Amino acid sequence: MAVKKYDYLIVGNSAGGIGCVEGIRREDREGSIAILADEKHHTYSRPLITHLLEGDVDRRGMDYRPRDFYRKHSVEPFLGFKAGSLDLDRRSVRIEGEKGNGSRNLRFDKLLLATGGSPFIPPMEGADLGGVTTMITLDQSLEVKRRLGRVKNAVVLGAGLIGTKTAEALSKVVDRVTVVELADRVLSLVSDETSSRLAADAFRKKGVEILLGNSIMEIRGKGKGKGKGRGKVEEVLLLDGTVIPCDLLVVAVGVRPRTELAEGTDIGVDTTRTGGGFLVEDNMATNIEGVYACGDASHAHDFVTGAHHLLPLWPNAYIGGRIAGLNMAGVPSRHRWATNMNSVDFFGFPMVSAGFLKRPNRKGFTEIIRDEEGKYARLVLKDDVIKGMVMAGNVARAGIYLGLMRNKVKTTSFSEHLLAHDFGAVHLPDEVKEKMKQPIRVIE
Ligand SMILES: Cc1cc2nc3c(=O)[nH]c(=O)nc-3n(C[C@H](O)[C@H](O)[C@H](O)COP(=O)(O)OP(=O)(O)OC[C@H]3O[C@@H](n4cnc5c(N)ncnc54)[C@H](O)[C@@H]3O)c2cc1C
Repeated sequence: MAVKKYDYLIVGNSAGGIGCVEGIRREDREGSIAILADEKHHTYSRPLITHLLEGDVDRRGMDYRPRDFYRKHSVEPFLGFKAGSLDLDRRSVRIEGEKGNGSRNLRFDKLLLATGGSPFIPPMEGADLGGVTTMITLDQSLEVKRRLGRVKNAVVLGAGLIGTKTAEALSKVVDRVTVVELADRVLSLVSDETSSRLAADAFRKKGVEILLGNSIMEIRGKGKGKGKGRGKVEEVLLLDGTVIPCDLLVVAVGVRPRTELAEGTDIGVDTTRTGGGFLVEDNMATNIEGVYACGDASHAHDFVTGAHHLLPLWPNAYIGGRIAGLNMAGVPSRHRWATNMNSVDFFGFPMVSAGFLKRPNRKGFTEIIRDEEGKYARLVLKDDVIKGMVMAGNVARAGIYLGLMRNKVKTTSFSEHLLAHDFGAVHLPDEVKEKMKQPIRVIE
């Protein structure tokens, strides 16, 4: 069997993989690059898959890079092929094609694992019925879109970022949407209690039902037990005994890093926490020479907490990939400016959060809050330096706060203005204004 060797092999054709190609090509125009993904599509913007559902964007509008990207960057794409296993001694990846294509090996000098995450589906009776899906890939979005004409009652399990974005999109195209969430509030990982309540209000005003502190016990339908995707979901039974009619169920209860390629190798993976993920240095290198990882599959350095952990966000994946690419091509670079920064908008109601969402019970931390008629802001500070923010309803000053966070500016001399309605550059001392004018180097 022919074994081709590439200078650079990238597993994952999304934000991380594309960032890596661009990082490599900034320095190395000649080295051979192959990119491999089990999704068959040209690279696309994953955060837009819910927008595709509601018709906000069409398939072409989802392209993350122009169609001639691979050719222009001299990249050999293997799309629709799964990397089945990794042999670090031979420095090769075994790839499995679509049915009947057999398998073959690709050898590499340097490797990037930008494998993203896979959705978690809790064991539930009826989970294999037709009309039950997760919402993580373009194919799933296209499949749901195809079904929409037959959907009157949609249920979304999970009110995190993916669940709420899916519910918003569905509410524009389906008669009735119900969100079921086990926690006592929506978006609990990216907002505090008040902004969660405001977000839930925005959904309820648009007729989306939000059921908190509840979950699905059983999925019921026709044609059970005939294999995945057969039959049809008809209703769901909730923990509290309620039965809801349902002809589409989207399960959005969490995504886990895809680290299965590390199985049987010595690549470091986080096994100490429930989150998982490849362990990397600030330059995105794993513990194995020439093997890098980034994006949803790996940890990243959080400039607010100083720790390395999962930061499953599109910009973090792209920058991590770009940094990996620069290092793979021999240019030392570090990822130092990521944090859990989220910016979303539900039905015109904007929300932003970053860093600490509330004051940790530790020495030196304080917080200030403004809460006025649907316009909410909370800043968390440590020794007068902003370490976190939550904003909802009006996010106009989020960029300034983030700049102050990233520049580690002491706010002591202007702290009384921080949450004023007119807070802006005029309140900043000249030296801070100068500092803020310098572009932040997200790649060091
Ligand atoms: C509905 C939705 C909405 C989102 N909204 C936002 C948002 O508003 N803002 C934001 O910042 N982020 C958002 N995200 C998260 C964002 O999409 C991810 O952080 C980002 O896609 C991570 O990029 P990645 O390159 O690490 O991995 P992914 O985008 O997950 O891509 C990984 C790729 O690797 C491939 N792959 C994995 N394993 C293998 C293998 N063994 N063999 C071959 N191929 C493999 C997969 O096919 C996939 O193509 C959203 C995600 C979803 C699903």
